[in-house]
Amino acid sequence: MSTYRRITDIQACIRSGGTSCVQLVSEYIARIEENKHLNAFLEVWVEEALERARHIDQKFKSGTHGRLAGAIIGIKDNLAYKGHKVSAASKILEGFESLYTATAVQRLLDEDAIILGRTNCDEFAMGASNENSAFGPVKNAADYERVPGGSSGGSAVAVQANMVHATLGSDTGGSIRQPAAFCGLFGIKPTYGLISRWGLLAYASSFDQIGPLTHSLEDNMLLTEIMAGPDEHDATVSDRPAPRYENVASSKKYTFAVMRQAIEHPGLDPEVKSATESIIASLQANGHTVTYFDFEYLDYLVPTYYVLTTAEASSNLSRYSGLLYGHRSQHATDLESTFTLSRSEGFGEEVKRRIMLGTFVLSSDYYDAYYSKAQKVRRIIKNRTREVLSNADAIFIPTTSTPAFKMGEKSKNPIAMYLADLFTVQANIAGNCAISIPTATTASGLPIGMQLMCGEFEEQNLYSMSSEILRACK
Ligand code: GLN
Repeated sequence: MSTYRRITDIQACIRSGGTSCVQLVSEYIARIEENKHLNAFLEVWVEEALERARHIDQKFKSGTHGRLAGAIIGIKDNLAYKGHKVSAASKILEGFESLYTATAVQRLLDEDAIILGRTNCDEFAMGASNENSAFGPVKNAADYERVPGGSSGGSAVAVQANMVHATLGSDTGGSIRQPAAFCGLFGIKPTYGLISRWGLLAYASSFDQIGPLTHSLEDNMLLTEIMAGPDEHDATVSDRPAPRYENVASSKKYTFAVMRQAIEHPGLDPEVKSATESIIASLQANGHTVTYFDFEYLDYLVPTYYVLTTAEASSNLSRYSGLLYGHRSQHATDLESTFTLSRSEGFGEEVKRRIMLGTFVLSSDYYDAYYSKAQKVRRIIKNRTREVLSNADAIFIPTTSTPAFKMGEKSKNPIAMYLADLFTVQANIAGNCAISIPTATTASGLPIGMQLMCGEFEEQNLYSMSSEILRACK
């Protein structure tokens, strides 16, 4: 099967009679079958995708197709798609079917994308290795003994191993960018409020954003553009008009701000460090300015993130009570045992840990010491991030301090796992946009990703500057 880097390449091939949507869907289904051991998909909607492919092939013939005709997409198992199962990779939602479609998914469908299936992830998007799924871990296609990253691990591997053309993930603290980095893809965490969260199963509502994982920068830009913009169902979406991004081959010279504490971090893998240094040297050689800044709050990022997100999660996940939907314990005898048994049986270990942490930081005795303090620290981090970005066009650091780690390496040590988010949580705490760009591979063939962060709603700049990073890798 041919692999395509860009949707426009697929469309050109369809136009010239080289393939069709039906053929593409069939080929992807075969790939999914061949790669079952990677465990990237939880469900594949074969018949429906083929039927839709026939319909879109007709539209192609009559020239009435949308901008995503020919794009075969997978969606993370925390996005609602009417009439389809969604479980957040949790037993508590096993068998549950969506009653409506997420706005982000609907906008792709409106442009004739074909949704082929739902991808595995960490339960309720809580994790950095995809080892927390109730339906088994996902394997990295570059090395089966390694994790794909999380929580959108299935979405990353589905694209990495060409089981679909692109996928959607969600990013609360790095869940799109970190797996993108571990699997050699582009993954964006858009500005908070760019893309509607309607239909995204909430983890931490003031952090969560939906975004695409793709082989090419062009597709990333296109999918983000199509999903972005106001939505009457989500009041946290900005009412700025929907953006139009251009593929700018600019001669513009930018200022990249490098965080000193990140590149001098003792935990930074030597190959990631040298990849970063070589890009910095090329950026300078290409006429860009590279400045260095001190970010004195680096060590506060992960604690702030975990206090606030667990607090939000403990509230968001209270709806899974065993009463309204999802798993209800067979052993319940009254209302209270329905709650406690259904939740104890339905949620996995990590989700329970976070609900307890979140309940603790919100409890009246500890609220001021933890939750309220973390809110203040969030403001300080946001202000400092804005200040740095007022003196530079983007912040440039690696996406992760190491390439993909081994399965089981961190799964027994929550703190070590939480520290895997060290470089990614800043953008979610501050609310600005950030992207992971595949830039290099290690000597043993593991992908290395670099991260750019721009200000709020500066996705155009983020994408334009990503091209400069790619140029600097050549
Ligand atoms: N690894 C982070 C966590 O476990 C990020 C998850 C995410 O972005 N959804 O919370």
